Amino acid sequence: MDTRKNTPACLRCGACCLRGGPALHQEDLPLLAAGTLARAHLLTLRAGEPVFENVAQVMTTLHSELVKVAWLPGEPGAANQGKAFACRFYAPEESACLIHETRPAECRALFCQDTAAIEALYARDRLTRAHIVDTRGSLWEIVSFHEESFPAATATALARASARGDRIAAREFEALADAERRFREAFAARTALPPQELEFYFGRSLAQVCAPLLGTPSLGEKKSG
Ligand code: SF4
Repeated sequence: MDTRKNTPACLRCGACCLRGGPALHQEDLPLLAAGTLARAHLLTLRAGEPVFENVAQVMTTLHSELVKVAWLPGEPGAANQGKAFACRFYAPEESACLIHETRPAECRALFCQDTAAIEALYARDRLTRAHIVDTRGSLWEIVSFHEESFPAATATALARASARGDRIAAREFEALADAERRFREAFAARTALPPQELEFYFGRSLAQVCAPLLGTPSLGEKKSG
């Protein structure tokens, strides 16, 4: 008897790829070493950011940072309809993964008809920037300076207070977000690093992170949380 007919199997419909790229885990480090994943492909979600946990299906605040595969590049609009949070390795025309054979651990564990494997994996051994950047180097000093000077938790607290009508908080948020924007511009102007890597080193701008809390447009960028 052919039991395969009754065995659930991944249909590779791409639905999970449209909900966002995977968070990375220590077992994904070889993909970085091999160049399958480059820093320009990654996005850091910092501690204190409000995020939607796909596995738990809840809005939550990150207690510690994570590094994930970034979203598909591009502007919001008709061309990106329904794909605003698609994984950057998802090819919408073919509903295919561009790195299927070497896809990260979460993608290999994820099976929407049986989520036991991904539930066991997703909060375990997550990668952070410290696993990827040389923590003895000057770049790490800059990453640390940014983290201490522009904490996401402070920005989100100010943004929430601002949304409740606190004008002092609104001014403080604007000053913090503006200073962070200028920091990014200065960094980009003084280094030869590809601009696509900025969201790995520093996460999204505070303006982007807090746009959903403030009910403001995400400054022409699609990544709203
Ligand atoms: S890496 Fe591939 S399988 Fe994983 S979410 Fe992206 S497109 Fe989908």
